[in-house]
Amino acid sequence: MKLTVIGACGGYPAKGQATSAFLLQSQGFNLLIDCGSGALLALQKVLSPLQLDAVLLTHFHADHVADVGVLQHFWQLAPGPKKVPILPIYASNQQPENFDKLDWPASTVKRALDVTKPMQIGPFTLTFFKTKHPVETYAVRIKEAGNCHELVYTADTTLFDGLNDFIAGADVLLADTNFLANQPNPRWHLTTTETAMLANTGHVKNVILTHLPPFGDIDALKREVVAALTPDIRLTIAQEGLICEI
Ligand SMILES: [Zn+2]
Repeated sequence: MKLTVIGACGGYPAKGQATSAFLLQSQGFNLLIDCGSGALLALQKVLSPLQLDAVLLTHFHADHVADVGVLQHFWQLAPGPKKVPILPIYASNQQPENFDKLDWPASTVKRALDVTKPMQIGPFTLTFFKTKHPVETYAVRIKEAGNCHELVYTADTTLFDGLNDFIAGADVLLADTNFLANQPNPRWHLTTTETAMLANTGHVKNVILTHLPPFGDIDALKREVVAALTPDIRLTIAQEGLICEI
């Protein structure tokens, strides 16, 4: 499967960079994971949004869903062939005031996540794990048919018991790493050292830092992760256009 970073800012877009959005492709299937602010602009540089097969939302914070509305307008108004007549958008149904907005006439349809067991979306098998964040949020572990490699996306979370087990053995860990190590509590995202610890104990092969602070020192963030990371784990900073074959 092929992961393309569409947006990697956390909180708000900055310097022409969108907030959280990722395109995951396999066997001709195009899954957009999160749809943050600026995602539709950035997505159009690599794929017509009409060629999406499905959208997955990890939670309903604006930096992960801000462009869902314009995606619905795009689907309704833009000329050109559509991959599917109505675009399914998968998300938790526990907040009806948000979930119900995923239905848009002749455009998109809401689909509830089944977080109790593995779920199939196209060629992908997805397993969900509830994270610790101010709103209901799910990390996701993704396998594709015919490939034993696995991607884990932490979505937004602080460190908590059980997260280690969920990410263990992933080939690629896409980790919310919003804070330097000295970030005081309360905090709702991982710090550099927490991400490194998760990667080390989980024996993952690659770590991609995402949910990057738009106002922050990304080099300092990287330095802190490098200092704490087992040397054989590959580290990459997410940015628009980054491609990772998994
Ligand atoms: Zn969030």
